[in-house]
Amino acid sequence: MIGLFLGLLILALLLFWLGQRQQRSAGLPEGRILYSDMDVGSKPERPFYDPELGLTGKPDYLVQSGQDLLPVEVKSSDAPSEPYQSHIMQLMAYCYLVARSTGRRPPYGILRYRNRSFAIDYSAAREEQLLAQIAEMRRLERSGKAMRSHEEPRRCARCGYARHCPQKL
Ligand code: SF4
Repeated sequence: MIGLFLGLLILALLLFWLGQRQQRSAGLPEGRILYSDMDVGSKPERPFYDPELGLTGKPDYLVQSGQDLLPVEVKSSDAPSEPYQSHIMQLMAYCYLVARSTGRRPPYGILRYRNRSFAIDYSAAREEQLLAQIAEMRRLERSGKAMRSHEEPRRCARCGYARHCPQKL
């Protein structure tokens, strides 16, 4: 009986260790993955929504690390030498949404490229920058002068606003 108990204990420890190792090799911080956009067949979770800013979005992962909830945005490309500003702002928007929706401000978020991950601090300065960019976007929207910033039909094909966007390629 004791042998069976020890065997199960060792098996449980081995599975735990393998899970941790898999998570580390995926470039994610240690912690529990709460949901994943990539789970084939899993029910999609609701996006976060902030009515005050009219902002909505859903990170690829949400990881619990201690008391913190950390958004993770996954990019399929190789990592640049430093993360693109647009990717940082997207991640900061998720941090903002997590903070507004849960009352728990993430100290940072994770940008995960194919070969490398970056932890990006959700600082007061970055939050200010995010809010300023959103205010500028809203101003451009109202003025009707918002212009497409690229010539890539593939980006439009994947875009959640494509159905309503007058500048779709
Ligand atoms: S559909 Fe419109 S908003 Fe979306 S990527 Fe294309 S131009 Fe940009």
